[in-house]
This record gives sequence, structure tokens and C-alpha cells, in this order.
Amino acid sequence: MNYEQLFDAFDKEHLWHPYTSVSEPLPTYKVKSAEGCIITLADGTRLVDGMSSWWCAVHGYNHPALNEALRRQSEQMAHVMFGGLTHEPAIALGKRLLALAPPSMQKIFYADSGSVAVEVALKMAVQYHYAKGHPGRSNFVTIRSGYHGDTWNAMSVCDPVTGMHGLFGPALPVRYFAPSPSSRFGGEWNEEDIRPLREMIEKHHDELAGLILEPVVQGAGGMRFYHPHYLVEAAKLCRAYGILLIFDEIATGFGRTGKLFAWEHAGVEPDIMCIGKALTGGYMTFSAVMTTDNVGQVISGAYPYAFMHGPTFMGNPLACAVACASIDLLLSYDWKEKVRKIEAQLRRELHPARAFSQVADVRVLGAIGVIEMKSLVNLAWIQRRFVEEGVWIRPFGRLVYIMPPFVISEKELTFLTNALLKVVSETNKNAENHE
Ligand code: PMP
Repeated sequence: MNYEQLFDAFDKEHLWHPYTSVSEPLPTYKVKSAEGCIITLADGTRLVDGMSSWWCAVHGYNHPALNEALRRQSEQMAHVMFGGLTHEPAIALGKRLLALAPPSMQKIFYADSGSVAVEVALKMAVQYHYAKGHPGRSNFVTIRSGYHGDTWNAMSVCDPVTGMHGLFGPALPVRYFAPSPSSRFGGEWNEEDIRPLREMIEKHHDELAGLILEPVVQGAGGMRFYHPHYLVEAAKLCRAYGILLIFDEIATGFGRTGKLFAWEHAGVEPDIMCIGKALTGGYMTFSAVMTTDNVGQVISGAYPYAFMHGPTFMGNPLACAVACASIDLLLSYDWKEKVRKIEAQLRRELHPARAFSQVADVRVLGAIGVIEMKSLVNLAWIQRRFVEEGVWIRPFGRLVYIMPPFVISEKELTFLTNALLKVVSETNKNAENHE
């Protein structure tokens, strides 16, 4: 490994990376190219990708069909404003999304990123109640261990402790947090799980515009997989008290949990649904907020007779075109079978980690494998070890997890899980020096 080629001095001096310091940044490895499931670093080191670039690159990198969609669209127009204008890529994407989304989702709002989609969803819920003559219904309820993004209101509904935004607490609007359900996915349903949410809603429904949840899989707030029946009970409460149910499917969407969207595990349709990340196959930032005809009509039926949001890059044609190609690609093969195979292999190959003294839990759902450690991992050390072993895995907190591109081969996945187990097994030895 050539460290001089791998670590760039300008980058270290001037470029801020996600959740890092500028004075003592963790090393950032320079990437030359990426193709399929392989990320090639500047010195030629090849890494098998375990992250899909944070849930996005479901088809792997540098895919010819997505490249072609982007190239073709760029020759028509890269962008045109969406205010007063429309275009074929936006329409074609809308048609595809309607065919895939829950049937009640009929209106689509394109946005720039996952966090912005969450902002838009929250605004929709507030404006819906405003239009109904209930301006006081402007707050939100959610559950602990959630993660919904980095912008202001998205932060306010993230877990106040594990959601990475704890320090902003005093500056954020105060939301209602029910405990995260204890019933695990695939386990028994414990009726007690819904009680705190029920009590909260009974007490505060007059102030509540919506309940926002990541259905079934909670991502960056804890990588937890909870019982789908929670959604059934939560939806009943929302309907009984006129609270809008918002599903954040930004991480779970497009097959990651074994269903195309995670709501399908429970059969519960939300009033508003956010999608992003894998929407463009990992090519660029883009998201969509979908809602029912009813929500759309109520918002549009009262002053100011319009939904008050409209970003500059709304409905960007390049993003829409690549999203269409990504959806077509996903539907062109038996993605469900592929995810099922990845799931079975992850269960088999991660199982031995249960016996490690440093491991608290191992869980797998769809193409997501999680090893929860008993103590915090030393990111700089573990990252280097993973790179030395030829894999790209980026843990956070006590969570070492993988969610590889669906196109990963059986052999590549075994390589990834072997490296994962090997490095995890070394963490005790390195605990004193590195933790
Ligand atoms: N919601 C969920 C469930 C997410 O996992 C994320 C990203 N980690 C977001 C929202 C925010 O998306 P973005 O980073 O694109 O703003």
C-alpha cells in the first residue's frame, strides 16, 4: 500500500468530510475509480465494497446503463427550472414511481436529498393541518433510535442521543419521542411496545401534525430491525387521531430489506412517504416525497392554495433520467431472489461472530448485515485494517455493518464477510491501544 498516493495533503488541509474534524481528521482514502463492487484506490489497491456508498449504489459502480442514461440526457439538457416548465424525464420517473409505491400515493414532489425530502414531508404535514384550520397541530412524534437526516427539522426528529445531533438539542424544536419498539423483526410481537406511543398520542394529539418513522429498519440511529406489527398499531392510532403517518423509506427503499419498500412488510400505507438514496442508483443526490390525493387536495384547497416549497434544482432532468434507468435495471432481473441469496449468505457467514466475546449482537435483514459490538470501535484503526484486508466497511459507534451492492457475487461477499469477521475478532487485542 502506497500511503503517499492514498492520503492527499490538500484534502487533509482543506476539505471537510462527513462528521470529521479539520484539525485532526481521520485518514480519507483517495479513490481512483469504482466499478461493479470494486473500489480502486489511488495506489491501485482494490477494495470489495460493503457499503453501497451509504445504501445508494445498489447496482454497483460505473454501470453502463446508468452511464448511458446520464450521457443521453446531458445531450438534451442537464437542467431546466421546474417552475412553470416540465419535461419527459420527470414525467417518466413519476409514472414509474406510481407503479411501485403504495397505491394511495398519488402526488409526487421531487426534492434534492434525503434530508430535504424529510423537511418537505414535515412541511406538508404542517400545511395540511393549517389548511384544515388547525394551525396548532404543528409538532411531530417519532420513536427513539431514528435517523432522518442532517438539516434542521430532520435533525429534530432524529434520536436525540444516537442520532448524531445531540449537541444541537437546545437549538432544535422539541419533538415527542416514544421508545423504539423492543419486539424484533422475526420475533414475537409484544403488545406493550405500542403503549408509550398510544399514551403520547392520546395526550398530545391536538398539537401533532404527524408521526414520522423509518419503517422496520432504523438506519443510522442504531441499525435496529423492529417488528412490522408496530406499524399496524401506529397507523391505527394515527387514523384515530387524524395524525399524518410519514414513512421515511430513504434508506429502506428499492429492495434493501427484501421488499421493494419496507411498508410492504406490514401492509400499512402511509399518508406521506420519502424516498431517496438508491433512487438514482447512487449516481447523484435526489429524492421524492409522495403523498395521497387527499393530502394534496387539502393543502391546495386553502390559503395560500399552493404547497410552499420549490427548490432550484427540483426535478433535475439528469437525476430523473438516471433514476428511470436505475428503476428499469432493478426491475429487469430477479432482485428479490438476489437479495434473498445475499440475506441467506450473510446469515450463514456472519453467524460465527455471535461467539466472539466482544460482540453484543449479530442481525441480518435483506441485504443488510449488522455486527453490534459491546464497546465503541476505534474508527481510524478498524478502517485501516479493513483496507489492509481489501474491503470497504465504514463502522460507526458500536456498529460494524455491511449493505453491499445487489450485484455482489457470492465469492466477493464471502471475501467481505471473512475480512469483517477477521478484523472484528482482532478488536479485543487492539482495545487497549486503540479504544
Ligand atoms: N432518512 C434516512 C432514513 C437516512 O438514512 C438518511 C441518510 N442517512 C436521510 C434521511 C438523509 O438523507 P441525505 O443524507 O440524502 O440528506
